[in-house]
Amino acid sequence: MAFNSADINAFKDIWVFCEQRNGELMNTDFELISEGRKLADERGSQLVGILLGHNVEGLAKELGGYGADKVIVCDDPELEVYTTDAYTKVICDAAMDLKPEVILLGASNIGRDLGPRCAARLNTGLTADCTHLDIDMDKYVNFLETSSTLDLSNTKFDMEDVNLKMTRPAFGGHLMATIICPRFRPCMSTVRPGVMKKAPFSQERADACVVEKYPVALAKDDIKTQVLDVVKEAKQIVDLIGADVIVSVGRGIGKDIQKGIELAGQLADAFGGGVVGGSRVTIDSGWLSADHQVGQTGKTVHPKVYVALGISGAIQHKAGMQDSELIIAVNKDETAPIFEIADYGITGDLFKVVPLMIDAIKAARE
Ligand code: FAD
Repeated sequence: MAFNSADINAFKDIWVFCEQRNGELMNTDFELISEGRKLADERGSQLVGILLGHNVEGLAKELGGYGADKVIVCDDPELEVYTTDAYTKVICDAAMDLKPEVILLGASNIGRDLGPRCAARLNTGLTADCTHLDIDMDKYVNFLETSSTLDLSNTKFDMEDVNLKMTRPAFGGHLMATIICPRFRPCMSTVRPGVMKKAPFSQERADACVVEKYPVALAKDDIKTQVLDVVKEAKQIVDLIGADVIVSVGRGIGKDIQKGIELAGQLADAFGGGVVGGSRVTIDSGWLSADHQVGQTGKTVHPKVYVALGISGAIQHKAGMQDSELIIAVNKDETAPIFEIADYGITGDLFKVVPLMIDAIKAARE
């Protein structure tokens, strides 16, 4: 089914696909709902969460607490475990019927799989891995201001001119591209986890949130894959996005990799419950596993404290950590670009500086 530009005025509401796993909502859901709230307020439209699963209705009100006006719940035993076919069909059926103007998804493994499938089926565009979203209302505001009649009911404004502006890094992070989807609806975007800030939870909003069940029409034939077993990775994955303190290491630990990682871990512990991150070099060199990577192609983080040890501060690294509340950098090169964004910069050899930092923090705590 193809929507053409003549249909555009029929599309309304901002939807956020809310991902749940084992009956638990993801942090990205709250981030996207919070961001969606701002866009919906600007656009003057409703913010709707779309939640798929089995026996998940009880999760819906929590999404309201972060800003959703309404949550559409699609409940079916076939939706308990994610499959591309089932989720694509259910979302596209609902979208073709209810015509949202925007659909946002988290750029998680599921969102990255589901978003393009839905976009292709809805014959619309999708901008992947966005780091910033905005609504372009300039032409609409101008239209209202310059309109010669106070009765706007007979005057048709072309909604093609109101667009979601979707910004993402391009050309290896050297520039930011802002992309619009002017002739098709819905505008679709996946958004990187950790980029958007979660709004404070409001019980009042949660209570006011409307929860609506949407009928699911799934036949066995619609799903071409069968999930036989879900095998969880045995090793523990580091939770960079949820961490308050991150101590990251870079190529600067190269002369004694093991010692460098150990020191970073000790410093993270001294701060209390911190975790170890790394620049891409440390992942590409096999010093740390991929879940530790901070940056444009790794995680976007904004902890309370970010410590960069032996990291130069390349643009792709900064893209993932520059919004941290407090940045401390240790580098032996006083001209390293990381110092440009550091709140505290220490010029020196990290192998000498970090033990002193650990001692100082411990002494201050005693
Ligand atoms: P370097 O740039 O080599 O810096 C090492 C620093 O350590 C230097 O400043 C040096 O002075 C200092 N140093 C050396 N020894 C010591 C010591 N004993 N004590 C103190 N300081 C010392 N990078 C990322 O981090 N994350 C990403 O997500 C990412 N995505 C990318 C995506 C693309 C498309 C591309 C092209 C690149 C990407 N990169 C990413 C790579 C990025 O461009 C840099 O190459 C990388 O961040 C550099 O890592 P680094 O700072 O550890 O190493």
